[in-house]
Amino acid sequence: MKIGILGAMEEEVKSIKSKMENVVIKTIANRNYYTGKLYGSDITLAFSRWGKVAASSTATSLINVFGAELVVFTGVAGAVAKELNIGDIVIGNGLYQHDMDARPIFPRHQIPLTDSKIFKPNSTYVKKAKQATDKFINNIECSITAYALSKFSILKPKAYYGIIASGDQFISDVNKHDGLQLKGEKVMAVEMEGAAVAQVCHEHYVPYVIIRTISDKANKTAEIDFQSFVSEVATHYSEGILKEFLTMP
Ligand code: SAH
Repeated sequence: MKIGILGAMEEEVKSIKSKMENVVIKTIANRNYYTGKLYGSDITLAFSRWGKVAASSTATSLINVFGAELVVFTGVAGAVAKELNIGDIVIGNGLYQHDMDARPIFPRHQIPLTDSKIFKPNSTYVKKAKQATDKFINNIECSITAYALSKFSILKPKAYYGIIASGDQFISDVNKHDGLQLKGEKVMAVEMEGAAVAQVCHEHYVPYVIIRTISDKANKTAEIDFQSFVSEVATHYSEGILKEFLTMP
């Protein structure tokens, strides 16, 4: 099976690429696509950049040009649910665009000209991603230094299934959390790409998994230490979880 992997942080993508073998690079629409083997699987990897349009463009190429039969997104997100801590992981089991609002023509959050408000990915791959993540965090000290874990107060990270809200905004204000909510669902995390990838994959009938490490609590300290979190923690999460995911039977 050909797997498309994308991430929105350049450093994460670079570090996954460093583990690839027989890499062939192709450039399309300002993005480099790296095709080769990762832990024995045939993959194409790309750096999407931030936001829904950037992620949609990248996911579309992964499917249409590189023949991805499964799309995996790994990246970071802000926590909305109170129980989440920095270093926890949310595997999206529902994704919606919190900034989609075509009222009064369509109800809030409904994707215009479809019946969809929320995309729910195929449970087989979501479960597999959760198992891979659990395996990774059980041995987290093999991948991340004790120094980095304590710097970010990561004690016992947990993996959750959860609803993820995506939108073209970096959320760094708890007063904005109420405005992210989707009626009838409990939102766990907020980011800028997942629901866009979900929509593209849904429309192409391609399964997908969105895996997000919590980097911040979407409050006023959200941007602090972000860069070092990405390089010291998140890149190792992405690499480690992908390794477990790709080598799982
Ligand atoms: N201050 C950081 C910002 C990066 S946030 C920096 O300078 O590097 C951008 C990426 O992280 C996006 O791809 C988004 O999906 C994710 N993200 C992490 N926390 C987020 C938050 N609180 N709100 C929205 N997106 C967030």
